[in-house]
Amino acid sequence: MSHISPEKLSDYITNLLNQKEQQAIELHIHSCDVCLSEYLDVIENQTLDVSLSESFTDVTMDKMNHHKQRKEKIQRSSKLPINKTLTHYVIAAGLTLLLMLTGVFQGFLDMTNSTKIEEHQSFTTQFMNNKNDILDYMEGDEKQ
Ligand SMILES: [Zn+2]
Repeated sequence: MSHISPEKLSDYITNLLNQKEQQAIELHIHSCDVCLSEYLDVIENQTLDVSLSESFTDVTMDKMNHHKQRKEKIQRSSKLPINKTLTHYVIAAGLTLLLMLTGVFQGFLDMTNSTKIEEHQSFTTQFMNNKNDILDYMEGDEKQ
């Protein structure tokens, strides 16, 4: 039996031949290194062909899905800094609310309108001390 032509091999790969021819080529490839090498070359060239076997398409789809999942993972992890920023915003908003509830914030606003500079300064010192205490408390809370 003579060697198999690349055209015949291509037909064999795409299942265009009848069962008898398919089997004959298969047997020949198994026993002939020349045709096996040729067969592998044809497969390599055919990977660019869209009409290639479904198994190739499945592998491509798997790769694409895998790629998609990876992309989603990356997108999910990239959301973390946004969440951290939001946490800081919530803490800042909570701090403002806490100051308002304790009356310190309102008292500070009243004092800024006051013409008595001495009281204003003493209150500012008091306010800053309170604020530092709250910040220390917040930082300790965040570490948990
Ligand atoms: Zn051969």
